[in-house]
Amino acid sequence: MAYLTLKDINKIYPNGFHAVHDFNLEAEKGEFIVFVGPSGCGKSTTLRMIAGLEDISKGEFLINGEVANQWGPREREVAMVFQSYALYPNMTVYDNLAFGLSLQGVDEDVIDERVQKTAKILGLTDYLDRMPRALSGGQRQRVAVGRSIIRKVGVFLMDEPLSNLDAKQRVTMRSEITQIHRETGATTIYVTHDQTEAMTMADRIVVMKDGYVQQIGTPRDVYFNPVNMFVAGFIGEPPMNFIRRKVENGCIQVGESQLDLSLKMGEKVKEYEGKEIVFGFRPEAITLHEQENAYALQGMVELTEMLGDNANVYVDIAQDKSILKVTPHEIPAMDEEIRFFIPVENVYLFDGDTEKVIM
Ligand code: ATP
Repeated sequence: MAYLTLKDINKIYPNGFHAVHDFNLEAEKGEFIVFVGPSGCGKSTTLRMIAGLEDISKGEFLINGEVANQWGPREREVAMVFQSYALYPNMTVYDNLAFGLSLQGVDEDVIDERVQKTAKILGLTDYLDRMPRALSGGQRQRVAVGRSIIRKVGVFLMDEPLSNLDAKQRVTMRSEITQIHRETGATTIYVTHDQTEAMTMADRIVVMKDGYVQQIGTPRDVYFNPVNMFVAGFIGEPPMNFIRRKVENGCIQVGESQLDLSLKMGEKVKEYEGKEIVFGFRPEAITLHEQENAYALQGMVELTEMLGDNANVYVDIAQDKSILKVTPHEIPAMDEEIRFFIPVENVYLFDGDTEKVIM
C-alpha cells in the first residue's frame, strides 16, 4: 500500500483562487518525490496541504491508508524544512538541534545521542558549540535540515531548501540530502523550480503547471518520454528546441530542408495534413557529421558558448532559434552556415493545437 495518497486534491483559497486542481499521487514508503514547475504553479500549496498547514478544499489525503485530512501536523508525523532556515540565533548549534526534542520531554541522554548522530551525518560535529551567526550559509542550512531529521518522522517535506545557497553549496547539499534520505529511509517530498535538482535527486518527479499535474514519472521517463511540450521544454538544460510548421504533402519545410515526417510517423502523417505540428529535438541529440536515417537541417551560427566539456551553439534556422550541444573540438565559427543531423529516433513531434506529444 502507498504510504501517502493524494486523491483528487484541490485547493481553492478563500479569495476564490483555484491554486491546485485534482492532484493525484501515490508515494511509496521511502520514496523521494520532487515537485517541480515554474513559480506559482501550486507546488508549495500542495506541500503545505500534505504538512497540514493548509486545509484541503476538496479530495482525500491518506497516510498509510487512513484518511488524514483532519489530522494536525503533529499527528501526521511530518517534518518540514523551509526556504528560510530560521534558526534560534541565541542558541548554539547543539541547542538548535536539541530544542524540538527537549520540548517533547525526551531524555537528555537520548537527546545527546541523537544530536551527536545527526551532527555526524551532516558534518556538524565540530560546530556544535557555535552560534548560528558564526556559520556559513551552507552550514546553517545543514543545521536546519538537522533539526528536522533529528525527529524520527515518517515524512520529510522540503520547500526549496537550497534556494538561499550559492551554486557550489547547492551542488554539495544536493548530494548530502540524497545521502541523508538514503540513511533515514524517510518518504521525502521536495519542492523546487530547478529541473536539475529534480533530475538529480528524485526517484519520481511530479511536473506541475498552473495548478495542474502535467506528468509523474522517473527522471528518465520525463526526459525521454515527455507527454507534452511543456514537460519537454521544462526538463532538460538547455531546453528542447521546437519548430512549428504546417504539414504539406506529408512534409514540413524548414529553411531549405524539406523534412519527410513519414520517416517518423509512417501513415499517421496523413491525419496531420494541413495542420500544424511541432518538431522537437534536444540540443544534445544532434551530430555535425552526416548519418543515416536522420533529418538534416542548416542554420547560421549566432553565438557559441564554451562550457568546458561541451559547448552550446546558438543557430538561426530559417527564423527559428535553436541551441545545439557540441564537443569543444567541433565549435563552429560565428556567422558560419552549418549543417547538422538529428537521428529520426531523437525527434519528438507534438500536435500543434493540443501541444501533446504524438510520438
Ligand atoms: P513558488 O515557486 O513561487 O513558491 P509555487 O509553485 O510554490 O510557487 P504556490 O505558492 O503554491 O506556488 O502558489 C500557487 C498559486 O496560489 C499562486 O498563484 C499564488 O499566488 C496563489 N496563492 C498562494 N497563497 C495564496 C493565498 N493565501 N491566497 C490566494 N492565493 C494564494
